[in-house]
Amino acid sequence: MLNGNMGENEPFKPMDSEQLREYGHKMVDFIADYYKSIEKFPVLSQVQPYYLKDLLPDAAPDQPEKFQDVLDDITKKIIPGVTHWQSPNFFGYYPGNSSIAGFLGEMICSGLNVIGFSWITSPASTELEVIVLDWLAKLLNLPDQFLSSGHGGGVIQGTASEAILVVLLAARDKILGRIGRNSLDKLVVYSSDQVHAAFKKACQIAGIYTENFRVLKTDASSGYGIDPKKFDQAIHDDMEAGLIPFFLCSTVGTTSSASVDPLVEIGQITEENDMWFHVDAAYAGSACICPEYRHYLDGVEYADSFCMNAHKWLLTNFDCSALWVKDSSALVNSLSTNPEFLKNKMSEQKKVVDFKDWQIPLGRRFRSLKLWMVLRLYGAENLREYIRNHIKLANLFEQLVRSDSRFEIVCPTLFSLVCFRFLPSNDDNDGYELNSMLLDAVNSTGQLFFTHTIISDKYILRFAVGAALTEERHVRESWKVIQNQATIISRQHILSKTNMKSKCEGMIANE
Ligand SMILES: *Cc1c(COP(=O)(O)O)cnc(C)c1O
Repeated sequence: MLNGNMGENEPFKPMDSEQLREYGHKMVDFIADYYKSIEKFPVLSQVQPYYLKDLLPDAAPDQPEKFQDVLDDITKKIIPGVTHWQSPNFFGYYPGNSSIAGFLGEMICSGLNVIGFSWITSPASTELEVIVLDWLAKLLNLPDQFLSSGHGGGVIQGTASEAILVVLLAARDKILGRIGRNSLDKLVVYSSDQVHAAFKKACQIAGIYTENFRVLKTDASSGYGIDPKKFDQAIHDDMEAGLIPFFLCSTVGTTSSASVDPLVEIGQITEENDMWFHVDAAYAGSACICPEYRHYLDGVEYADSFCMNAHKWLLTNFDCSALWVKDSSALVNSLSTNPEFLKNKMSEQKKVVDFKDWQIPLGRRFRSLKLWMVLRLYGAENLREYIRNHIKLANLFEQLVRSDSRFEIVCPTLFSLVCFRFLPSNDDNDGYELNSMLLDAVNSTGQLFFTHTIISDKYILRFAVGAALTEERHVRESWKVIQNQATIISRQHILSKTNMKSKCEGMIANE
């Protein structure tokens, strides 16, 4: 038992290094075995809502239980309710990578368990974060203004959603500082209709008026990127109406289709109009460490802030969202607090960065350890190869889809996301039902997991390659499963239609 050395009158000891060693090794074995057998589980958990309520007691135990009993419960009760994001057959949403280096970094982060909100609370936590984000900025070839040597720098947020929120707050307070706080109702924000839902949420939190949220419509002709002319026109109209355009949230690699906004053109427009320009590259940013994909970031030099999630496609276990800003004082002016109990000489003398002033919460984990270990233990060349391999596999999947005339590719495959759909027969409406049935049927097999989106009112299937364990055979096998289910579904579809038809005919005959 965990506290087996507890005598009658000895106090409870929740930490003991020898016990940590013993149980820590067991847990590592458990996790290694999980990865070894991960392909055996259905990728999408097949449980029903509240399945766990019936399996667990309704109150915490009074007395300690055995570690092995807990492990057994994880195997028997928890794992069935897990959707296996690390399965090589996980192709849903965007990936959420894990890796050995990321895992080891997570262990040491948990092991030290420091709360590095101010420099003084753990100088290494702040300083490593500054250095590692400079490293990553250089791998992405970001402009020097995003480096810590100037007025800006990088910071690790939990998620891209938090990144959007903090830069929106900084931008809002910067402009309100100039024009007066009672002008909040005049501030207008812009994005395309492909922007992540996190932007809308951030606007709600920041108090941006709903009627001042401009959603620029995109279509296939511009590859689902923002049309600079429409953007310019919208700004013009808003200024005519006495409103104040102040923020653009653009995307490199949108969540629906991985489309890319034309950063150079829209960046110039934000510059002319003195607006804050945020570039959200949560998923596709990782690809830009490869020189051949870096051009998707051309124009980032106009941006005030840039974000990519190392926890999506760069082998860093969740969470690790990297945000860079050119002017960190905008963040600090908006988000800093300075209660007496946190005061210290280093902060007072402004000699140090206190990351509490660059984020929403106070407490923060030592997440840079993970990213540092990923960059050091793999090296940039391996990371680039890793990205390239996924893009190659996505291209292979695209070829497979193209070779079956029952399907079509809907958007160009820019990174590792393939958007496709099962073509409805002529007399069908838009294939909505057909494709959603196919998706459900495939995911119910448990053999792979993928997801969908709606683009231009069409139901689109998304196949996102990017799990660390995915190999060519997984992609080929998955495609076979999709094809087989498509065959079954179209048969059912035709059958149900013939049934309907004969029913109708029967009704007519009865009349
Ligand atoms: C995944 C994603 C997000 C949200 O990421 P979180 O880190 O979960 O908040 C935002 N924007 C884009 C483009 C994404 O792909």
